[in-house]
Amino acid sequence: MHLSSLFHRSALMHADRPALAAGTRDPLTYAQLQARVQALAGWLRGPMGLQPGQRVMLALRNHPSYIESMLAIWHAGLCAVPVNAKLHPNELEYILRDSGARLCLSQGEVADALAPVAGSLEAVRVMDVESAAYAEGARGPALALEPRPPQELAWLFYTSGTTGKPKGVMLSHANLVGMCLNFYADVQAVASGDAMVHVAPLSHGGGLYSIPYWLHGALQIVPDSGGLDEDELCALLTHYDRVSLFASPTIVQRMVRHARQAGGPPPGLRALIVGGAPFYVEDIKDAVACFGPRVAQIYGQGESPMSISALSAAQVAEAVASNDDALLGSVGYVQTSMAVELRNGAGQPAAPGELGEVTVKGPTVMLGYWNNPRATADTLADGWLHTGDIGTLDTRGLLHLKDRSKDVIISGGTNIYPREVEEALMRHDAIQEVSVVGTPDPEWGESVLAFVVLKPGAQAQAQDLDRLCLASIARFKRPKRYVFLEELPKNSTGKVLKRELQQRALPTP
Ligand code: AMP
Repeated sequence: MHLSSLFHRSALMHADRPALAAGTRDPLTYAQLQARVQALAGWLRGPMGLQPGQRVMLALRNHPSYIESMLAIWHAGLCAVPVNAKLHPNELEYILRDSGARLCLSQGEVADALAPVAGSLEAVRVMDVESAAYAEGARGPALALEPRPPQELAWLFYTSGTTGKPKGVMLSHANLVGMCLNFYADVQAVASGDAMVHVAPLSHGGGLYSIPYWLHGALQIVPDSGGLDEDELCALLTHYDRVSLFASPTIVQRMVRHARQAGGPPPGLRALIVGGAPFYVEDIKDAVACFGPRVAQIYGQGESPMSISALSAAQVAEAVASNDDALLGSVGYVQTSMAVELRNGAGQPAAPGELGEVTVKGPTVMLGYWNNPRATADTLADGWLHTGDIGTLDTRGLLHLKDRSKDVIISGGTNIYPREVEEALMRHDAIQEVSVVGTPDPEWGESVLAFVVLKPGAQAQAQDLDRLCLASIARFKRPKRYVFLEELPKNSTGKVLKRELQQRALPTP
């Protein structure tokens, strides 16, 4: 099914229900949102001169126009190219060129920074979603619903690309519908009366999770700050009821701290759906202690969005109650419509408990990388998506992630998985965050180095941390050195920038 006809169906079913709100202001109803979406689609295909199949870049922070633009792009048979609004203009230029987008919807300073970039490219326009032209577009003649194929491209998502240039992951409408069905089956049911607040960037998983919400007639709320402001979020979670949010583990930590200072969790919180980066056992327990049985976890990647494995909030809460650390340390069970196989070093299926690369099959797996048949052939080899993540599947069917294959530390010829060391260190009461990386070592090839952020006012010495490691992990895995930092460098989706930490660890020439 194409998302344009599914949104049309929602607009018919839920015409008078609230659909999209900016902060606590009066929301647009589904009928009002549909009117804007159809008019904007007409504007894209008319005055903006776009043809079905063409790409439109979305380069803006979270903004109510983000969601209506996504819907308008799909209604017009176009493909969205979401980008992190914090990218450097050179990076935006690369994506504009690579995707061949003819139009970029942007806002404020990002639009200003993009104007010269777009000016240097032929036939690329930048439109500010707060401009008079956009407002007029949203009031113009409607484009009627057209029958469109489910295999059409919906979302061309540029992977963060820690090595080399970013690649455009091609996701079809059918991929995204598959993601929604997994969401309902394994993460959360959604009905009108539910709401989702978007604090994580809409250009990433948070934007995709708007789909299962509008598909079932729920409300989307975009905070005025366009991101995470704890006081604002707390006010929204007091104003609205039954609100869920997609959050990185870092966002969850910040919410826990805020709720503790405020004397308790906000009343309107229904669920935190956490993913995108390792969610450590101690942090999960802390979040459940603070928010109750409201913490779910998902594992996916751009190439199979939000859809590899999951743990519902009930499963997480039960595991916390029964001290089932094996479950809490996993990323859960394989999602309903997916198949996961772990491949060992020889490329053969790994035995239960044996380490291997996570490979995935299912309706959410990308069509391939945009204009990059070589990378597509490597990543989708033999019909499976090769995720680059290393893990194990245990006899209970739980998937345990160790690390990205490129983050594995090889010391004295032995593999050390940073996550294992990080989990051990997180048990120390004084530690707020930690990230473990490998650093060149003349004797061992690489040695283990831990970057540690302590809780405000807390104290810990390297020897305390060393003792803790010796008590729970093999001697050779414990960090040779600790570096204490005020904060860890992270990208906009909450992933720790391990390459940057590795650079910092190198001796200055
Ligand atoms: P992206 O394609 O930017 O969404 O990044 C996907 C990568 O983030 C995955 O391949 C994993 O390495 C990591 N990731 C996503 N979800 C989780 C999770 N729940 N736990 C640990 N790592 C995760």
